[in-house]
Amino acid sequence: MKVTKAEIVISAVKSDQYPSTDFPEIALAGRSNVGKSSFINKMINRKNLARTSSKPGKTQTLNFYLINDQFYFVDVPGYGFAKVSKREREKWGKMIEAYLLKREQLKACILIIDIRHAPTSDDVMMYEFLKYHGIPAVIVATKADKIPKGKWQKHLKVVKETLKMEKNDPLILFSAETGYGKEDAWSAIYPFLS
Ligand code: GDP
Repeated sequence: MKVTKAEIVISAVKSDQYPSTDFPEIALAGRSNVGKSSFINKMINRKNLARTSSKPGKTQTLNFYLINDQFYFVDVPGYGFAKVSKREREKWGKMIEAYLLKREQLKACILIIDIRHAPTSDDVMMYEFLKYHGIPAVIVATKADKIPKGKWQKHLKVVKETLKMEKNDPLILFSAETGYGKEDAWSAIYPFLS
């Protein structure tokens, strides 16, 4: 996809702040610091529209990025940051559930994981949550540049097995550093945009 326009429309904390449009929405979920912002920026050819930060767990808002006046990427705050209090985690859970379970415009969720490591128990929980609620999932295994090419297949197999991935769910190998997998990621997203 040729991205000609990308803008952040709102950082929402409550559902009444979500955009009142009917454009399809693609959520992005993943552990804090996994590379979610970098993924968005690479996909839309921007250096820094989505904020990349070295402070995991900081953003507790749903960030709506309108792309080509056609659809939204919705950046969901990262999970699995140990230093976050129980109360914060509960708040996170409620916000995510309110969005993922009730939002009609939501068409799919991209789950971003780190190719270097087996998915964490939080990743597994997130994937199972999506499956249980019938939300289409696209798995993106990012930071591919951090392991040698010769090990990619082995790592992808671990991802599939640990998540117990359903056969039809796309698994995209990606690198925000090199742009590897960008076209595959767009191909996986297209079907949800019409
Ligand atoms: P977020 O918290 O999930 O939004 O993660 P960020 O996008 O801020 O990325 C966290 C860190 O990982 C940053 O230092 C990024 O530069 C780095 N990073 C993200 N994606 C990649 C990638 O594909 N390759 C490499 N080498 N580093 C990455």
